[in-house]
Amino acid sequence: MTRVVVLGGGYAGMASAARLAKLGHSVTLLEASGQLGGALVPVREEGFTWDASATSTLLPAVMRDLFRKSGRPAERELELVPMDVIREHRFADKTSVAVPGGTRGAQLAAFDELGPGMGQQWTDYVARFSEDWEVLRQHYFEVPWEPSALPAAVAERFRSRETLHKRLRKTFKDERLRLVAAHPFVAAGQELRDVPAWAGLTAYLEQRFGVWRIEGGMSVVAEVLAARMATRRVSVQTATQVEDIVVRDGRAVAVSTTAGEIDVGADGAVVVAFDPRSLPALRPLVDRTLPAIPPMTFHLGLSSLPEHLLDLPDELVLHGEPTLVVRTRGLAPEGQHAWTVHSYGKLMEDVLLALARHKIDLREHVVHRVDLGAAELVRRWRGSPLGVKWVGRSTVFQRLGPRTPVPNVYAAGAHATPGSGLPFTGLSSALVAQSIGPAEK
Ligand SMILES: Cc1cc2nc3c(=O)[nH]c(=O)nc-3n(C[C@H](O)[C@H](O)[C@H](O)COP(=O)(O)OP(=O)(O)OC[C@H]3O[C@@H](n4cnc5c(N)ncnc54)[C@H](O)[C@@H]3O)c2cc1C
Repeated sequence: MTRVVVLGGGYAGMASAARLAKLGHSVTLLEASGQLGGALVPVREEGFTWDASATSTLLPAVMRDLFRKSGRPAERELELVPMDVIREHRFADKTSVAVPGGTRGAQLAAFDELGPGMGQQWTDYVARFSEDWEVLRQHYFEVPWEPSALPAAVAERFRSRETLHKRLRKTFKDERLRLVAAHPFVAAGQELRDVPAWAGLTAYLEQRFGVWRIEGGMSVVAEVLAARMATRRVSVQTATQVEDIVVRDGRAVAVSTTAGEIDVGADGAVVVAFDPRSLPALRPLVDRTLPAIPPMTFHLGLSSLPEHLLDLPDELVLHGEPTLVVRTRGLAPEGQHAWTVHSYGKLMEDVLLALARHKIDLREHVVHRVDLGAAELVRRWRGSPLGVKWVGRSTVFQRLGPRTPVPNVYAAGAHATPGSGLPFTGLSSALVAQSIGPAEK
């Protein structure tokens, strides 16, 4: 049995720990805060519960695979629900589109409502990513990659200078289609001019495999995984801040923490599942990366709402300056509602006034609110769960993971390969588990 020390108890750290424990390793999980879950720990106040970050996931197969490969299947512990409407976009010209997930035909019909031929333009755009997904799935997303020996089809994509910004300008004359395609990147704190075109394949994943939420909210995932730490006999140390990895003769030999030094063992390994820039031993390897910054966030506890606000979709995007994203599925006491609003861009007035300008007037209905600026969020989470900011095509090579230049140190999570968001951080843990492999008996 090999000793593996996993650093960071967010989704990726727990997923890595569960997988590695099932592979027979003796796993210790170190988490700085008082509880596991990272960005999936919800905000709970005055009877309201809001998801703090993710509210849905792409690629449900990744989550199912994690649960199956680490013990009981997901269906036994949580309910993954496909979203009929992924999100509704409302544009400045008062038109709107409710984007359905999971089928090309439904998206074609939905976009046609914006104007003749729009459906075809949208589905043609999405279809172009099918080959990108097939190529990258086989050599990057699902298999540990070797950056110095890339298959030609992967190299061609990763070295291409085409940005998503350029692709969208070339593909769509209609500004609204560009806004819809750009949205997942704006929401993830990215600048479109710095994102490579291939990364737009998330639009293909949304259409092909749908977008899924968890009944009861994302905190259920955090709770179920935290319980799995116990069943898999992962030794969990919360309230333990990692200060550095001790590297001797080119290998990690220990982890230094606020609770003392933890030995890694002669053939042990370390998995870093938070921003590696915060560890002096790894910082020089990633000093060219920057974090993507989370949006200003407002959690609203609302009393009974007027009829026209009751049937909003789970996610509503109000395009403008700033763009506001309203997520409506928090948990609230009977007859009340828990909404979260994220603001992207400069918010020059109170968020309730900004919403009222979009005909979503909540001013008389707010019974509780929690306002969180980007700096406060990053402080709470000890880093950004949105991972590394794209600064061009080279970013894909600058993230660590699954392996790192230190042979027994691996990287998972939002800051690692293949990027942020639950599907990709879930894949990062699968890549780390594949790279480390089963424990020797
Ligand atoms: C506003 C917002 C909305 C989002 N919406 C979605 C969405 O709808 N769908 C989706 O798929 N994704 C979404 N995401 C992204 C998703 O939430 C994250 O990518 C994912 O949760 C990251 O998980 P992680 O384990 O990599 O990081 P984290 O959850 O950040 O976990 C890192 C953990 O490491 C711990 N840690 C940090 N430093 C140390 C240290 N020195 N010592 C010990 N422990 C340490 C932290 O306390 C934390 O528990 C959203 C993110 C944000 C910010």
